[in-house]
Amino acid sequence: IVQWTPFFQTYKKQRYPWVQLAGHQGNFKAGPEPGTILKKLCPKEQLCFQVLMKDVLRPYVPEYKGHLTCEDSDGETAMYLQLQDLLGEFTNPCVMDCKVGVRTYLEEELAKAKEKPKLRKDMYEKMIQIDPNAPTDEEHRLKGVTKPRYMVWRETISSTATLGFRIEGIKKSDGKSSKDFKTTKTREQILECFADFTAGFPHAIPKYIQRLKAIKATLEVSNFFTTHEVIGSSLLFVHDQTNANVWLIDFAKTLVLPREMQITHSMSWVVGNHEDGYMIGVNNLIDIFSQLMEQ
Ligand code: ATP
Ligand code: MG
Ligand code: MG
Repeated sequence: IVQWTPFFQTYKKQRYPWVQLAGHQGNFKAGPEPGTILKKLCPKEQLCFQVLMKDVLRPYVPEYKGHLTCEDSDGETAMYLQLQDLLGEFTNPCVMDCKVGVRTYLEEELAKAKEKPKLRKDMYEKMIQIDPNAPTDEEHRLKGVTKPRYMVWRETISSTATLGFRIEGIKKSDGKSSKDFKTTKTREQILECFADFTAGFPHAIPKYIQRLKAIKATLEVSNFFTTHEVIGSSLLFVHDQTNANVWLIDFAKTLVLPREMQITHSMSWVVGNHEDGYMIGVNNLIDIFSQLMEQ
């Protein structure tokens, strides 16, 4: 169960509890202006937002309103990005965070894990807890797996490796929220989650499909998207009684591609080709929501 973040947001004179479905609690706080939030500044993410504000994708990401320095939850001085609060225009919203892409770590993180690949007992334990058949005979015998092996395997227990996205968290209008989707893997399981998420809000489904199609069309012509490897970024789905919308969020692991490198965002990833599978995820999201609408 997700904890409510300990702050209230004010928008159009209404106060509502802000909800955070991923990341560290301490990374977010209420903004100085109504309708804004503060996220701990990461220079890479800030650069992405600066570029995005001049890109065709601008309508599909939270407005970036600059950075500021203030005290964090430990009383230390810290820098924050000031962002549009995407929940601001909604009343008692339902929220879902889907992390997009066929992998959620950077090539360099995998390379680093490969440097001194020690056998890890803790990772072996985590592995057999989820799937006792996952380790090879050799790994069972050694009671250990290497970190790179674990990293690659972990993406296969959710829908990340196969569908190009996974559910990170859902909060429904009754206040119930869950982050318990680590092994939600099959198309059928996802469809069921989406059905539950939109239950009682049928108007949201066609709105989500339309918006996802607009996002897809815009990604295809975006200079930002052409020049970046988008890892660990999410699509945030928000609806209430009357409205539904989707935005791209979280660019802390989005990197500029090497100058000579071009990726398709649709081809399979093999170590070194930098493919992120972002479009695989967007296409599957459109497909699954379309199937939901036909039911
Ligand atoms: P992680 O890397 O673990 O995913 P993070 O610290 O980079 O987390 P984000 O993914 O950017 O943080 O955001 C975490 C959560 O906060 C999101 O799932 C969403 O619920 C909420 N959130 C983030 N940005 C916004 C926004 N602009 N408006 C409303 N909610 C937001
Ligand atoms: Mg995130
Ligand atoms: Mg992040």
